[in-house]
Amino acid sequence: RLEIRDLTRVFGGREVVSGVSLKVMPGQVTCLLGPSGCGKSTTLRIIAGVDRQDAGGVYVDGAPISEGALHVPPESRGIGLMFQDFALFPHLDVARNVGFGIKGSKAEIRTRVETLLDKVGMRRHIDRYPHELSGGEQQRVALARALAPSPRILLMDEPFSGLDDRLRDDIRDETLGVLKAEGTAVLLVTHEPAEAMRMADEIALMRDGRVVQHGAPYNIYNAPKDREAAAFFSDIN
Ligand code: ATP
Ligand code: MG
Repeated sequence: RLEIRDLTRVFGGREVVSGVSLKVMPGQVTCLLGPSGCGKSTTLRIIAGVDRQDAGGVYVDGAPISEGALHVPPESRGIGLMFQDFALFPHLDVARNVGFGIKGSKAEIRTRVETLLDKVGMRRHIDRYPHELSGGEQQRVALARALAPSPRILLMDEPFSGLDDRLRDDIRDETLGVLKAEGTAVLLVTHEPAEAMRMADEIALMRDGRVVQHGAPYNIYNAPKDREAAAFFSDIN
């Protein structure tokens, strides 16, 4: 269980993240949804431990990993990352890309890699290189790689934005299936209401560094808090 409380980050005297609180439960997807520049990626970077908060904290199962002077290094947090520009290593084949973050014997790593590639439907491409894969196939491999060290928490920042519309819907559904099966707690950042509606168990609607509304997708969609929230959802097709 991931929790952030009153998280605040100041850049140049401006609070770009301002008292944000959230919870993400195992097996659930929480979407941080909001327009460009509202502070989504900054929030994610602090949770990942690659940036530091100015106030508030980040907690895993109730224990602080970022709070005051306490700062658990990113690699010790048990948190997986999947970003749009988090590209595969071009010089490594699929097997080595996915196996990169796994510890164990050669045989153990191979078994885990094959299991993961089965889950994302990419086992037959195990010996290919990234440039021999389509965008959607690369995204599936990237998901397998993110899940390889069995993170209990996965942070995803606009992971589907490089894909064309039709493929994106398929990959979203497949990704959701894999994540639910793994029981991972997922915090997904997006600026697209349609993506949040499709994937989220909970949506946190963010604006100007604050969470302005929080709840189940259809509650937010049907009862937006104000005119701006309503307008933000109005161009979903
Ligand atoms: P997008 O949807 O465009 O990715 P975002 O919600 O992820 O937007 P952030 O990247 O978190 O937005 O940025 C929030 C605000 O903080 C922006 O106004 C940005 O210019 C500013 N900002 C981000 N990083 C820094 C930094 N290192 N120094 C100064 N300002 C920053
Ligand atoms: Mg961003």
